[in-house]
Formats: sequence, C-alpha cells, structure tokens
Amino acid sequence: MSDVRQHAEEIREQFSEHLDLTADEIEERLDNLVNEYRVPLEEARRSVVSHYLDEAGLERDDVRSGGGGGSEKVNVEDVNEDEQWLGLTAKVVDLWDPRSDAVGQVGLLGDETGTIKFTKWADSDLQELEEGAVYRFGNLVSDEYQGDYSVKLNRTTTIEEVDEDIEVGDDTAEVEGALVDIQSGSGLIKRCPEDDCTRVLQNGRCSEHGEVEGEFDLRIKGVLDDGSEVHKIIFDKEATEDLTGIGLQEAQDMAMDALDTTVVAEEMREKTLGLYYRVAGPTMGRYLLVDELEELAGPTDTEDVLIKARSM
Ligand SMILES: [Zn+2]
Repeated sequence: MSDVRQHAEEIREQFSEHLDLTADEIEERLDNLVNEYRVPLEEARRSVVSHYLDEAGLERDDVRSGGGGGSEKVNVEDVNEDEQWLGLTAKVVDLWDPRSDAVGQVGLLGDETGTIKFTKWADSDLQELEEGAVYRFGNLVSDEYQGDYSVKLNRTTTIEEVDEDIEVGDDTAEVEGALVDIQSGSGLIKRCPEDDCTRVLQNGRCSEHGEVEGEFDLRIKGVLDDGSEVHKIIFDKEATEDLTGIGLQEAQDMAMDALDTTVVAEEMREKTLGLYYRVAGPTMGRYLLVDELEELAGPTDTEDVLIKARSM
C-alpha cells in the first residue's frame, strides 16, 4: 500500500464514527496536496484532517487519534520509526531559537529513557510549552532525518501539563570500532566568543554574529566503523588531546609555524586513522560526545576500513 493510501485509510478510520468517507476520496485530497502542491505528506494529512474536522463540526479531541493503532504511549527510546503517531509523557529539557517562521517552538523533550528533539509548528494553535515542565502529549508524529528521530507537534496534538517531575535519562552509548574518517571542521578551530554562542567560525565569521575575533579550540568530528555501521562521534578539547596527544598550545604553535591551521587536522589524521577505539559518552542527536576513550589492539587491516570510509 502506498504511503498516501495508508494515511487515507487511517483518516477514514479516525472519522468513521462521524463522517461517511471513502478512502478513495481522502486519498484524492491527499494526493492533490502532495503531488500537485508539493506539500509534505505529514502537512497534507494535517490539512485534510482539519478539513474533515470542520466539515463534521468537531474539535480535534472528539475524533479518534490518528495512526493505525492509535496514539500509542511510548518512551523516548522507543521512537525509532518514521511517521508513527504516538503519545509521550516528557519534560521540556531545553528550548532553542526557531530558525524558521514556520516553527513555533523547538527543543528537547526527555523522559527516563533519554531525550528527543521536538518541533511545534507555528500554526498549530497549541499552548506555549515551558522549560522544565512535564506534559502528557497525545498525537505526536515521529520524524526521521538521516537516522535521527524527532517528534512533531501538530494541530491534532493534545497537551496536558502533569504535576510531577521526571528524572531525564542521559542515553549514553558505547561504540567500538575503527576510526575511519576525520571530517572537515576538525583540528584547530575558532569559536565565536559571544556569550552562550560558541558556534564554530567559518572563515572568521559566526553565522549568528558575523565577523568576530574567534577563540581557539580543539575538536574532532570523527567517524567510527564498528564493522556493521558507522557512528558519528565528537571529541571535545580534552578528548581530542587524549586521542592525539596534541594540546591546544602545541596545535597553535604548529599552525603558526606552517601559517596554516589545517596542518593540525592533517597531523591528527596521520596519528589516528585506521586505529581501533572504544568510546563512550552521551548522545546528542546522531552524535556521540566522547568522554571516555580507550585505544584497542584491534584488527589492523586499515585498507579495508579506509575504502569503506571513502565510499560513505
Ligand atoms: Zn556567534
């Protein structure tokens, strides 16, 4: 069954007690929005649902929740499929500045099992969420982007503040494998000195604050291959020094001598690529932030892993 067809079936089910709809007519509406107007499927669904709510003279709470099996209550760690309709009881751990006018609020939700990004659309007519508060959410939709999951609040989402606190889990992870790549933006970098900014500068510019006098820092964005999949990992200054034996002052001296900061990342690559490590630390989106590091005496067939890295 096509995605559009499946959504049509689900919407028909949602309204089965209120409207006499056929999956065909719902599919036609969805299809028109998706294929004619290039509206993303999730948005199209929201719009079609809202159309039928109007037609039936109903509020969103009056109809059954969307999604085949309804809005299943899950934990954050269980969100691992795209476009699932689900319910969560979670704390607003962090609120970020929306980058787009279409987004009302964006940030991080957490429960005992970990944290997940959420997005609330500006036109969803939902209440403002407050940092530190715990809510029971119904009718969230999961979203997957490059292996990273998030949840979206939409017009059908229900929100109920709960008078309890949640100890948010820090989903730490451990990965073992060969370091197969050190990506650009690694080595000796400069960060924006503005309060609470710390963005990495590109050609002396901060994407938020423009041209600034940056502060030197060390970082490695690495890729670890465990034999079956690759993991993106970030080493902060301490972990980078631990990994490479190169400290901030030494890195600055190297760059000064060469009149070029890229020599630092080059030297780091030579010292570490193809070696085996076990790393552990909290995960942030699709990155693991290394705070424990151990070099392993792993397989030394670096040719094989380097070929894999190039074909990524
Ligand atoms: Zn900045």
